Amino acid sequence: MGMSLAELAGIAGHFARAQWRWHTLRGDALRAYQDRRARAIVAYANAHAPFYRAHWAGHDLHDWRTLPTVEKQSMMAHFDTFNTRGITQAEAMRVALAAERDRDFAPTLAGVTVGLSSGTSGHRGIFLAAPWEQTGWAGVMLARALHRWQGRLRVAFFLRANSNLYEQIGGLVIQFRYLDLMTPLPEAICVLNDLRPHVIVGPPSLLLLLAEARERGTLRARPQRLISVAEVLEPHDHARLHNIFAAPVHQIYQCTEGLLAISCARGALHIQEDLVAIQDGDGDTEATADGRKDTEGMGRRIQPIITDLWRRTQPIVRYGLNDVVRLARGPCACGSGFRVIDAVEGRSDDCCRFIRVDGSLRIFFPDTIRRMILLASGQIAEYQAVQTRPGQVCVHLAVAPGADFGAVAQAVRASVTATLAHYGCRAAELDIVEGLDVVLPGAKRRRVRRVG
Ligand SMILES: [Zn+2]
Repeated sequence: MGMSLAELAGIAGHFARAQWRWHTLRGDALRAYQDRRARAIVAYANAHAPFYRAHWAGHDLHDWRTLPTVEKQSMMAHFDTFNTRGITQAEAMRVALAAERDRDFAPTLAGVTVGLSSGTSGHRGIFLAAPWEQTGWAGVMLARALHRWQGRLRVAFFLRANSNLYEQIGGLVIQFRYLDLMTPLPEAICVLNDLRPHVIVGPPSLLLLLAEARERGTLRARPQRLISVAEVLEPHDHARLHNIFAAPVHQIYQCTEGLLAISCARGALHIQEDLVAIQDGDGDTEATADGRKDTEGMGRRIQPIITDLWRRTQPIVRYGLNDVVRLARGPCACGSGFRVIDAVEGRSDDCCRFIRVDGSLRIFFPDTIRRMILLASGQIAEYQAVQTRPGQVCVHLAVAPGADFGAVAQAVRASVTATLAHYGCRAAELDIVEGLDVVLPGAKRRRVRRVG
């Protein structure tokens, strides 16, 4: 898809302004900037989105940081009045499904791009973006993700086919190749060997498959940088990718509701605070208490409430996100005043529950479960943990070639028992199974899951 000069000029303008904000906004100036933008969005939503007008009735709109929150269920239940263009959910869903089915990303609805989020099937979000919102998005992506100008860049971008947003970032400065996540691996490797991309963007589960191909010698491309998107990038996967490709591994943390954070040149994942205001959600008070004890020496865990400071087609104001993130304690050495996320720990509804000695429930974050398993043995190649009811967990293990499964399982059992005892919980009803659960191709990977 080509791009007009006006679109390019628009992207360049956003690029320059985004760079300026990145380097200069901090502290009170940043807060004032967020206030100014958020109040404009709130006024617009109040005027054009009947859902928000009703939701905020009786509240002081100027004091936007205390407005009642919204979440995905109400956004989808009130889709037709949540957006400011009067687009119905039925129309949007029809267009989005047709685009996904036909792998045709051109269709839009009254000039608005429609995309489906990659959530589990029953909870798919639909997002809407006007052309100017997409242009702004592309400019900021360029400014923030590419760090410095280095001539013409070739970028390979693996994503689940769910929107045409990504095709917009083409043109003079970047040769951009979109690859469907469902592309068979040998075919994808051929494309990459041919393209020789400087940057490969994709979910970590896909990047790890490419790492294996790199080790086998079938993948000959030598990217200068990897960018992980769409799934949690766990520390041990980060290390493996970094070792095999001998290149920095950065992240873009975004969701249907907005672009949240991008790694800087030093690899720190900065909240894009001029695009989105992130507040600390109360979340589950028990989870918060557990988190504070659990993160001694680390930054604070929060369940973010986000306000998108730009989008008007589908305003996102005080939206409670279903993720748990851990903030870094201090500022980044790169000089940007934007806060840093140390880890995106997973979905809050994947927090597991175990039973305290006194019979009450205690919440364990996915990250705690992850460490409890992985730190038990160096011979775990891959794992999944699934909880179906409080006090129970099933751990699926794949062990390194030549390793003794029985011994690894015993070590995991001991680690789980010790961790639960450490947090004052009874022993778990624990199953340890050899081999992994089948994950549907293209499905988002969640190693720690709570179901039912
Ligand atoms: Zn930084």
